[in-house]
Formats: sequence, C-alpha cells, structure tokens
Amino acid sequence: MNPNSVTREPLGAIVFHADEIAAAVGRLGQALTNDLRDEPVLLVGVLKGALFLVADLARALPPRADIRIDFLAVASYGNSTRSSGEVRLLKDTSESIEGKNVVIVEDIVDNGLTLDYLQRLLASRNPASLRSCVLLDKPYRRLVDVTIDYTGLLAPDAFIVGYGLDYQEKYRNLPYLARLEEWALES
Ligand code: 5GP
Repeated sequence: MNPNSVTREPLGAIVFHADEIAAAVGRLGQALTNDLRDEPVLLVGVLKGALFLVADLARALPPRADIRIDFLAVASYGNSTRSSGEVRLLKDTSESIEGKNVVIVEDIVDNGLTLDYLQRLLASRNPASLRSCVLLDKPYRRLVDVTIDYTGLLAPDAFIVGYGLDYQEKYRNLPYLARLEEWALES
C-alpha cells in the first residue's frame, strides 16, 4: 500500500467525555439557579459554539423558571485557531436586554478578548444584571482580565473541538470534547 494514501486522523485524544460535560453543565445550572432564585433570566448564547451548551444549560434550570433564550454571533479576525484580538459583531440579540438579568453563555474563553468585548457591549445597554457562564476556560492564556461568574471545566492548552466547538466548521456535532492534532492545525 502506498503510505502517502493513508489519511491521518486529525482528531486527537478525548479531553472530556459526554458524561463529564453533562455533569459540568448540571453544576453550572445549579449554581445559576442558586444565585438567580426566582428572578427571570435571559440566556444569551454566543453562536455558534455555545449552541449545545445553551440547549443543555436551559434544561438544567428549573423547568418552570422564567427563562428566555436569545443568541448573538461574533467573529474574531485572524486565522482560524488563534484569535487576533479584533472582535466583530455578526448578529445582535433579537430582543432588548435593558432591565433584564442577562447571562452570557460562551463555549470557551481563551485570551479573553471576545468575552471582554461582549461584556462591555451588553453592559452599555443597561441590563438589570450581567453574568457570564462559560463551559471551558483556558485561564493561563489571558491577554485581558475578564470576570467569569460560572466556569464549567478547565481546558488543557490545546485546540479543542466538539460539543459545539469547531475547526473550520467541522466537529461541532461530537458529543465529547477532543483535541485536534497539532499537525492538522498547521496544514
Ligand atoms: P478568546 O477571545 O477568549 O481568545 O476566544 C474565544 C473564542 O475563540 C471562542 O468563542 C472560540 O470561538 C475560539 N476558541 C478559543 N479556543 C478554542 C479552542 O480550543 N477550540 C475552538 N474550537 N475554538 C476556540
């Protein structure tokens, strides 16, 4: 067999299994429930990475709680695996956030610039309160200090895909979180 015809698998080791993600989301939901008590809340998911997190987090909150769901989308300029620091709003929320208890729901915080941008943007719109809830954190990579109110899991220093996180729009559908092999990022 010609060795050049062997396709290498870009997906690396699993970092967090589906049950570990579910447990983390359950903890996030519990912490939010304790803090919000019976207050209505607007979950603002950051597309597309937080798609599954929003869906699971919303269902980890009390079923009869007053919960609304909205989304916004951002893009950071630069190459696809390292954000350059310039954040651009691609899609705004559908509803006004003024006077509401808003929770930004983000897949991962790396250098912190995306969350910093979103916190400044949404804070300027006079919400009653503004919190942030993040599934994965890479605190050792910060370029700016950001406050994360609820953190699910500490991420290793690797490019991670799955459970909403993509590489060039692929792998979002994985039910677990896995590393992408270094060579795949370079190619
Ligand atoms: P930050 O502005 O904090 O550097 O980056 C936040 C955004 O960068 C995330 O919402 C995500 O889109 C992207 N990002 C950062 N680290 C990773 C990673 O390990 N995997 C994937 N798929 N995206 C990442």
